[in-house]
This record gives sequence, C-alpha cells and structure tokens, in this order.
Amino acid sequence: MTAALLDGRAIATRIEASIRTEVETLRTVVGRVPRLVVVLVGDNAASASYVKSKAAAAARVGVDAEVVPMPASASTAELVALVTSIAADERGPADGILVQLPLPGHVDAQAVLDAVPPDRDVDGFHPENAGLLSQGRPRFVPCTAAGVQRMLLDADVETAGRRVVIVGRSDIVGKPLALLLTNKGPGGDATVTICHSRSSDLPAITREADILVAAAGRPRLITAAMVKPGATVIDVGINRVDGRLVGDVDFDGVRGVAGRISPVPGGVGPLTVAMLLANTVLAAELRLGRR
Ligand code: NDP
Repeated sequence: MTAALLDGRAIATRIEASIRTEVETLRTVVGRVPRLVVVLVGDNAASASYVKSKAAAAARVGVDAEVVPMPASASTAELVALVTSIAADERGPADGILVQLPLPGHVDAQAVLDAVPPDRDVDGFHPENAGLLSQGRPRFVPCTAAGVQRMLLDADVETAGRRVVIVGRSDIVGKPLALLLTNKGPGGDATVTICHSRSSDLPAITREADILVAAAGRPRLITAAMVKPGATVIDVGINRVDGRLVGDVDFDGVRGVAGRISPVPGGVGPLTVAMLLANTVLAAELRLGRR
C-alpha cells in the first residue's frame, strides 16, 4: 500500500480564497480590513520564519498584519505593557494579537499571554478560550489543532466512533486537538487517547489508531511498525535535522503502511497559518457585531 498524500498546501489555498472574499466583504461594508498584530521577541530563526509566513499569508488575503519586533532582552513587564498598549488599540485597531512563541527563558510567557484579551486571542491560548473549547462551544481554537481537524474534514476522513491516538499533550496542539475530536459534531465524536513521554508501550497504543496524530517534536518517532495498516497519519512535528525539515513520522517507511499521510513540509504547517487568518477574520467580525 502507498498512502494517499494529505496536501496541506492545496487545502490552505482553498481556505485562503474564501477568507479573501470575507475580507473584501468587510472592506466594502465596514470600510476596513481585519488587523493582526504579531509580537516577535528576539532573533530565533525559526520564529522569524514562522512570522514571515504568517505576514505573507495575511498579505495574500488582504488582512493587515503588523509585526512588532522586540529585543531578546525585553522583560516580562515590558512585554506585558506592550501587549496591553496594543490591546488598547494604541497602534491602530488590533482585532487579533499574537505573541510568537517561544519567548526567551527569562520571560514569564504565561503572564505575557494572559495580557492578550480573550476577544483578540487569535492563537486560542487564553484560559477563557481553552474553557469554551473544553465545554464544546469553541470560539478561538488553537490554530494547529483546528488545522488538523480541517485536514481530516477536507479529506472526508470519518472521525465519529473512530479511535484517534495523539502523541503529545501540549496546551497548543495535543490537548486542544483531543477536545476538538472528542466534541460532538462533524470532525468530532471520536474516541481519543493522548500519549506523552511517560506513556508505556507507545507502539501498542499507536497501533490501535484509525487516526494517528504525531505532535511530539521528536524526529521520525513514529515508524511503520507503530501504524495500523490503512490508518490516517497526521504529522504535526517540525524538526530541523542536518539543515532539513522533518516531521515526527518516518515518512518513507510509514507511507507503505498508512492509508493517508500528511507530509512535512506541506502538511499541517500551511493549515496552521490559514486557521490563524480565519481566527483573525472571526475576531474582527465578532468585534464589529457581525457574528
Ligand atoms: P511540546 O514540546 O510542548 O510537547 C511535546 C509533547 O510530546 C509532550 O507532551 C511530550 O510529553 C510528548 N513527547 C515527547 N517525546 C515523546 C516520546 N518519545 N513519546 C511520547 N510522547 C513524547 O511540543 P508542541 O506541542 O509545541 O509541538 C510538537 C511538535 O509540533 C513540534 O515538533 C513543533 O515544532 C510542532 N509544531 C508544528 C506546528 C505546525 O504548524 N505544523 C505548530 C506547532 C508545533 P511530555 O508532556 O511528557 O513531555
């Protein structure tokens, strides 16, 4: 068997086209486009490249994006003050505010994230948005988790009643994704298991998955022997190995066993960015009372 490819770039292109139309409608009806402000602290090359992709995608759909660079030496208090001033619209309307992670080690990241008001929290990290998701009434869903669900929906992968195994329990990927896939409705109703570094006999658990999501940040952790034949395998991982980007899945090996597989790059990454744009438009529409 050779798994079919889940082409995140193609799905993201279609999502961007529909977002572009929504942005144009806002421009016509309310006279302005959604605005996203991104805070980028320090000079982490990966963060800079993610922010560049987000700004480029915003430009493609007509969302106004501003990147606010801050030195790596910025203190927690300075970053909280910056986010607070952005939220007060002191740099112009800020429908969405995003603080690119990771922040330097001396910064209290939670304090900075908590300064983002829940109605501008397009990353979906605020406790209020996490709570809404856990109650099955999502507002801003963390972009990567939303992107994975969108990928499954787009490929008509049935989730209802299926066994999903997610490797990784972070607040930004594993946990919100587990909630999304467990909640009732399209793209949900799955039976979800979350694994982490303390899970014992990981291969025995992953082999039970109809849908296996790897979000561990460990290059090629998931091998062919860990995959049930015909399963759908979604690779969230982004790892730099010898100057190349690789996922958490041994793509070449697993492709021979799985039914569908997402590549790295070109899988979940573009969908994460598309979901950020969707959240930004949603934030603007909620703010303008249009939803
Ligand atoms: P974290 O480091 O926050 O979480 C990783 C999780 O994987 C943890 O729960 C950890 O367990 C678990 N884990 C690590 N090693 C193993 C192992 N050997 N067996 C089982 N579980 C393991 O990472 P993130 O959630 O932030 O990101 C995960 C990956 O996804 C990274 O590669 C990241 O770059 C990528 N990513 C990709 C995005 C995209 O757009 N495609 C967006 C965001 C992230 P424990 O909790 O016990 O430590």
